[in-house]
Amino acid sequence: MPETIVPAKAIALTGYVAGQPVRSGALLEVKSPYNGRIAGTVTLADRSHTEAAIVAGLQGGPRLSRYDRFAILDKTRQLLEARKEEFARLIMSESGLCMRETRYEVGRARDVLHFAALEALKDDGQVFSCDISPQGKARKIFTLREPLSLAVAITPFNHPLNQVAHKIAPAIATGTPVILKPSEKTPLTAIRLVELLYEAGLPHYMLSVLLGPTAEVAEVLVQDPRVELVSFTGSVAVGKHIAKQAGYKKVILELGGNDPLIVLEDADMDLAVTLAAEGSYRNSGQRCTAVKRILVQESIHDAFVQKLVERTKEYTCGDPSSDETRVGTVIDEPAAIYLEDVVKKAVAQGAKVLYGGGRNGAQMEPTVIVDVPRDAQMVVQESFGPLAPVMKVKDLDDAIQLANSTAFGLSSGIVTKDMEKAIHAVKHLRMGTVNINEVPGYRIESSPFGGIKDSGLGIKEGVIEAMKCFTYVKTFSLPW
Ligand code: NAP
Repeated sequence: MPETIVPAKAIALTGYVAGQPVRSGALLEVKSPYNGRIAGTVTLADRSHTEAAIVAGLQGGPRLSRYDRFAILDKTRQLLEARKEEFARLIMSESGLCMRETRYEVGRARDVLHFAALEALKDDGQVFSCDISPQGKARKIFTLREPLSLAVAITPFNHPLNQVAHKIAPAIATGTPVILKPSEKTPLTAIRLVELLYEAGLPHYMLSVLLGPTAEVAEVLVQDPRVELVSFTGSVAVGKHIAKQAGYKKVILELGGNDPLIVLEDADMDLAVTLAAEGSYRNSGQRCTAVKRILVQESIHDAFVQKLVERTKEYTCGDPSSDETRVGTVIDEPAAIYLEDVVKKAVAQGAKVLYGGGRNGAQMEPTVIVDVPRDAQMVVQESFGPLAPVMKVKDLDDAIQLANSTAFGLSSGIVTKDMEKAIHAVKHLRMGTVNINEVPGYRIESSPFGGIKDSGLGIKEGVIEAMKCFTYVKTFSLPW
């Protein structure tokens, strides 16, 4: 039995301006993509709340020591641990992701808090002796990292807790005040995390969370010259729009992906099938690093496809609250209709659906589709759902050329026992990450993460890299 059961009735939440609830305003209704039931409501902010949050963040408060920051993040981790089932159910209720996935996500967010707490304790300075050249002097230069005055974090729907944790925890670990603007599709979990941080003792000036009309909240935050950093995760279109609007400030953009899994003829077939299925269907295929194209060497193509179809049958698609379900819904019905549509378009171009392909409301079946043409919309653009499009490749170079041919460059996986081929792939895939014998999405929460091309500007996140972004380096020197 789960230790905490979320009541069946919808929860009523508000945004917070530095700890003060946003009391009056229109109500946002957040509905379950599975059954349309209202999961919760949020009182929306307007432009005056946005201004108040900026002022409160800039005004600041008692500066937190490294130990304070560690203690707050660690306490939050403990609170999350105690309420893990409640959080998993909340994510499920607003996103339609199944409990298998939402429990996994809570575990990841716990890791983020843990690693950020530990990093807060570490010194991040360097020392440069200056008497090391004929021009040198008897001095030393020291570096230290200072928090920014104010940062803004804008997050997407697909990991309602972990994406938020990945921005807020590093900001807190560095002492940088932050205003969070979560997705309107999944704001409930984000607000609950903010409440957990307040409960753990976070001074209120350090964190606000606002939802409201884009023109009164998100765009105002992005454009305000007093904000020193915008950290955004979401779609390419919105990311590029933010890049234009932000003006003179730091911008981190973590955008879409179209990640290939390359399966070579010497691969361990069972491993390849496992990685293809897990990579394509976990989180309902809604991971930026989900497997979105499976590039299989032609000599093993038919055997691989047969096994993938068999494996796909294990991914029961259904009620996200059931422990038997392995694939819940995608985020909403229009998203599922888009997926159904790209499948139909690929079929019209000659592809064949070997398993799945059906849709019911926001539920898209895990779908194995073969002979997908290289120019099909499904594989050229990002198809954010549980699709497993398989494409034949002649050899490794053909696979690399195809893998590199889209606008994206987030991550990739290659399945092979040949280390020379693995190294060749690492050298030639133009992606932020290359994982050998793993899914493209493999990472730990503290390792550097992020893409290039349309997937991002090459500025990495992950707890340690994000903490660098949320600070600036100050140098000082002393006679020595
Ligand atoms: P989205 O539509 O771009 O929305 C992301 C966030 O941007 C939401 O909070 C949204 O608010 C906000 N937003 C919308 N218009 C804005 C504007 N004009 N100015 C500022 N903010 C604005 O993305 P999504 O559909 O939620 O997320 C899915 C996408 O995220 C996929 O492409 C996925 O690949 C990508 N993603 C990337 C990574 C990565 O690390 N590379 C990780 C996860 C997801 P509203 O909800 O109010 O519209």
